[in-house]
Amino acid sequence: MVHKSLSLNINGIKKKISKMALDLSILAEDFSIIPKDDPRQALRLRRFFISLSVYLFILSLSSFAYLVGFVELSVIYGGWIIILLINVFLYMLIRSGLNLRMSDPSLTALQICLASLVVMYGIFFVYEARAIFFALYILVILFGTFRLFFRKFLLVSAFILLTYGIDIFLLEVFRPQDIILKIEIFQWFGLAVVLASVSFIGANVSSLRQDLSSSRKKLQSSLTKIREMAIHDDLTGFYNRRHLMELIEFEDNRSTRTGAVFSLVMMDIDKFKNVNDTFGHQAGDNVLMTFSAIIRSVLRKTDFCGRYGGEEFLIVLTQTDIEAAKVFAERIRACVEDSLFPDLGHDFRVTVSIGLAQHRMKEDIDKTISRADEALYRAKNGGRNRVEFSE
Ligand code: GH3
Ligand code: MG
Ligand code: MG
Repeated sequence: MVHKSLSLNINGIKKKISKMALDLSILAEDFSIIPKDDPRQALRLRRFFISLSVYLFILSLSSFAYLVGFVELSVIYGGWIIILLINVFLYMLIRSGLNLRMSDPSLTALQICLASLVVMYGIFFVYEARAIFFALYILVILFGTFRLFFRKFLLVSAFILLTYGIDIFLLEVFRPQDIILKIEIFQWFGLAVVLASVSFIGANVSSLRQDLSSSRKKLQSSLTKIREMAIHDDLTGFYNRRHLMELIEFEDNRSTRTGAVFSLVMMDIDKFKNVNDTFGHQAGDNVLMTFSAIIRSVLRKTDFCGRYGGEEFLIVLTQTDIEAAKVFAERIRACVEDSLFPDLGHDFRVTVSIGLAQHRMKEDIDKTISRADEALYRAKNGGRNRVEFSE
């Protein structure tokens, strides 16, 4: 009895462990050091890794200081622990997304301030080699050129000066015999002047960078607009003839490769000249826009339409044979006939004639178009407001 319940227990534990292992493996699969779905956070983490590699350089410097007998091992360990804590903290802040709640999600100022604490630590213990730490202060503040503007630059400079001031104070308290206060204060002012100058230059670089990035964005959006304009017709919003022909060619190639059928729908508004003559050109334009909206409302996502000529439109029905094309075309014809065009009042109706052709295997695409055109011609001759197709 005891034996049985024991084995049940063990089985339960085994199940729990395997479930935990599964959960962990799913978690590990989802996790990546740099997020893939958020380019801005990815950029921030990449910057974090740049600063981490600078820390690693500094760590190698500290090992050198130990080897030449400048510092004791405990001081080096202390520095490593501080650097480790800072970087784990920063990485978790960015990777968890908590940085997004802060006014500057790039954490530039925070990273600079934390790094200057490391320099402050170094100066206190290796005060004989202050010169190198001053250079490190400059290196640290240079990171501001990624993001900071003049006011923030001055604030982080003030923080750096504060850390150095604390160093002077601590040295004066704990090792007064090792420093000459007058020189320290002079060096403090020297550092203040250098930091102010770096802030000025850095802020300029920063704003230059921002100008550059905003003009790049403007350029990109203009380019997108130009691309759109180059392939679309202004009035109707459908593809222009040139792009339509490119798409048809693409569809033709696809059909040759895959054997998929497609059909062409050639449409021409009936007696459109009358509309212009009776109501004016502007009203004619408005009719074309309303007509386009009607077509767009019946078009499937996989079909595409272009303005083939003035009031002539060509639709490509992908993966559609002539029978299905007839149903579609009839729907369009009826829809246009039933629609009201605000510019033309209640009595005037707009109708459309339609010619259809299914693309034949290995047929030249121009031939398919001309068959659709001929069918349209027959629809016109047959009394308009009708659908004809090529056998
Ligand atoms: P049907 O096709 O039934 O034979 O007669 P229709 O009167 O429509 O034929 P036609 O091709 O002779 O006339 C087309 C008219 O469309 C002539 C042209 O002024 C007008 N048109 C072409 N493009 C535009 C445009 O963008 N805006 C306006 N308002 N009219 C246009
Ligand atoms: Mg016409
Ligand atoms: Mg015409």
